[in-house]
Amino acid sequence: MDDQVSAQGGRNMTYQNLIGGRDTASSDGAMLDVLSPVDGSLFARIASGTPEDVDAAVTAARAAFEGAWGKLTATERGRLLVKLATAVEAHAEELAALESRDNGKPLRQSKADVAALARYFEYYGSAADKLHGEVIPYLNSHFIGVERVPHGVTGHIVPWNYPMQIFGRSVGAALAAGNATVVKPAEDASLTILRVSALAREVGFPEGALNIVTGLGRSAGAALAAHPGIDFLSFTGSPETGTAVQTAAAQNHVGVTLELGGKSAQVVFDDADLERALPILVTAIIQNGGQTCSAGSRLLIQRGIFNDVVAAVSERFRNLKAGHPEHEPDLGPMINQAQQRRVQSYLDRAASEGLSVAAAGGIATDAPKGGYYVPPTFLAPVPHESTLSQEEVFGPVLVATPFDDEAEAIRLANGTPYGLAAGVWTRDAMRSTRVGRAMRVGQVFVNCYGAGGGVELPFGGFGRSGHGREKGFEGLVEFTTTRTIVIAHG
Ligand code: NAD
Repeated sequence: MDDQVSAQGGRNMTYQNLIGGRDTASSDGAMLDVLSPVDGSLFARIASGTPEDVDAAVTAARAAFEGAWGKLTATERGRLLVKLATAVEAHAEELAALESRDNGKPLRQSKADVAALARYFEYYGSAADKLHGEVIPYLNSHFIGVERVPHGVTGHIVPWNYPMQIFGRSVGAALAAGNATVVKPAEDASLTILRVSALAREVGFPEGALNIVTGLGRSAGAALAAHPGIDFLSFTGSPETGTAVQTAAAQNHVGVTLELGGKSAQVVFDDADLERALPILVTAIIQNGGQTCSAGSRLLIQRGIFNDVVAAVSERFRNLKAGHPEHEPDLGPMINQAQQRRVQSYLDRAASEGLSVAAAGGIATDAPKGGYYVPPTFLAPVPHESTLSQEEVFGPVLVATPFDDEAEAIRLANGTPYGLAAGVWTRDAMRSTRVGRAMRVGQVFVNCYGAGGGVELPFGGFGRSGHGREKGFEGLVEFTTTRTIVIAHG
């Protein structure tokens, strides 16, 4: 497989599943076309994984868990992950180029994703042998220990928006904790995950510790979620699919983390340092073309400064351009035509509801024809109850809504079904703590916004944004369970 996988891709490039350490065609030989969002061209083909492939991968993972992989010490597992981090760094340019071609994200974002991926492997590799258990002083006549143990075989269903980062945080933690893994990448962006898995094989991961089955969600993904041989599931994707995955997991009585969508608010008070805030308010929505679960997609602005902030954000929006990922545009194309149409349909609906576009950016002249580009769009004022304020667009669409006081700001910020992240902008230290702690979200940023970022920071949501935490040490603990041992000696 090593020479099959390259950054160039091409009409004849084919990528197979990785099962039990071997490149494996799908059981029925079917393949899926991979179109580049940059220009809509066919540039690779991936295996269209079947339920039989998933079954073979789960069997291989079980054998690894009970065999060579399961016999390694935590320190040995950790060393392998650190070696993989080094291999990822050594292939950084190749991986970034491949990601930009496969996913359409600007090259600088792909490079940042590669760096984060390496850091996940380094972080979790270094933490593997620090997962201490505890001793409970309950009875003098007994020794009572609680040890942290892996779940066994874990399933990982990954979306297309940050394939490398989400693979790194979820699979890195699961492997560090001692699980054997089966991964279903998104059909629209599988290639970097396959390439990194080839690197894992090169650095010496035992066969079956890491298995990849590519293909469609409704076949390979659904089969993985429902497989009785899976002991724990990690799902990142849309709330609708999350419901299906959790329902399937419930049939097998296994746990699941759900990392779902968001409609994150940036709350701007009238004492905010606007010079500091403005560039970040814009970046928070256009990063990755707005295809970020924790995108700051709602601006809540105190009424006294509403018009001024809208004018300043509008000025920035007018200069934004979507363009070719290799030319470092403000944003690249959407992942596929369906996503391009989805963004457009939200804008059409907003127009039909009479919402005003405050400013829109454009599409760069270098954007290839056939690519899935959309102009970034800023709408203001937008009522809090409107569709655009309540639903996740997953594109470069920002809305602004005024508020009068702190209580209203908190009510609006918490007033969607989601609860992933929030930003609070104020110079008042006491208010920042008060408002920050009132946010029903997994991450709050005060006078900054790095939501979703930070390998070391636990991340996850409330409500429709999901449950469970990934990233940080807490993310490692999620991939373990406990065994209590009571030893009588008195
Ligand atoms: P999606 O739910 O369509 O797909 C996610 C993954 O699930 C893909 O691998 C897909 O093939 C698979 N899948 C689809 N149907 C399935 C089924 N019936 N059973 C099992 N698996 C199935 O989501 P998407 O469009 O790829 O990603 C966008 C969504 O992901 C957005 O809502 C976004 O906010 C969310 N997201 C959340 C986070 C987070 O950490 N909270 C991160 C990235 C993306």
